[in-house]
Amino acid sequence: MNTDRFKSFAYALYQIDSPSGYTKNAVDFLESQAKNLGYKTERNQKGNLYVFVEGADHSYRLGVSAHTDTLGLMVRSINADGTLRFTNIGGPILPTLDGEYCRIITRSNKTYTGTILSTSPAVHVFKDASTAPRNADTMIVKIDEIVKNKEDVEKLGIMNGDIIAIDPKTVITDNGFIKSRFLDDKISVCALFEMLNMIKEENITLSHDTVFIITTYEEVGHGAANLPDIQELLTCDMGCIGQDLSCTEYDVSICAKDSGGPYDYEMVSTLIELAKKEKCQYAVDIYPYYGSDVDAALSAGNNIKGALIGPGVAASHGMERCHMQAIESTIKLMMAYLTK
Ligand SMILES: [Zn+2]
Repeated sequence: MNTDRFKSFAYALYQIDSPSGYTKNAVDFLESQAKNLGYKTERNQKGNLYVFVEGADHSYRLGVSAHTDTLGLMVRSINADGTLRFTNIGGPILPTLDGEYCRIITRSNKTYTGTILSTSPAVHVFKDASTAPRNADTMIVKIDEIVKNKEDVEKLGIMNGDIIAIDPKTVITDNGFIKSRFLDDKISVCALFEMLNMIKEENITLSHDTVFIITTYEEVGHGAANLPDIQELLTCDMGCIGQDLSCTEYDVSICAKDSGGPYDYEMVSTLIELAKKEKCQYAVDIYPYYGSDVDAALSAGNNIKGALIGPGVAASHGMERCHMQAIESTIKLMMAYLTK
């Protein structure tokens, strides 16, 4: 892989806000990148992107997927004091949003900046500033505009149902740590696009025709519910870290089972064999609270077999972190799987 190319691609993608339900800009960017590389693309009705890669064999078609939608918030109502109440999109750890910067995107395409705060935000005023619970009923968004009441906010064009995107604060350190919100799962999207680059640059022939699938509603549960015509799906999504799990921020995680049950036995076994053969830093784990796009696809009745791998991501749905080593192993394993 080309690390510099990967990093600049990641910074570019992370600058484009894409909470579930507001992913068009990110998909436009990704589609143009794929087209620039000479790939054929398509979208399904709800906006998932398909990038078609021809393989040596046309009789069996694989899919590899990652989701470009992220967690976010939505304006639920406008308070009398000109602040905003919100509802969450997906499952962010709300206390970690206290003090974070955000962008409010109106339906007329205006963007305002703001800060997500507790309703007891000042230690000199509120006795419970440190201890007040942080949830959707006790947090608000303060807009960076002179607004003193609800009418002032409405005059800005802000209304219920507007998207609130959380600043991802993406930083890639010189020693390879990637710190950002939404590594789940944009970092896997970046990995898939690095592979699309490598396939062209290094003239790699995949074993079978393969569709690279970028889904747009994973965080709300139905990302890959609809699929192109494929026989198996390898989803790349963040690997879990914590408690008795063996994955670290330096590994590619191979998930044997999650909340949706066990993954395809043969695929998982093949992935483990390939990880050993390719000398990837890898871990095999069971994720306690996790559903993937494979689960969405199977639950929707798709006739596929599926497996899940991904770079180990710490502090998921909070302020996340992983390391370039995990990305390298993830790409190496996926490429080995697609060329086996
Ligand atoms: Zn995810």
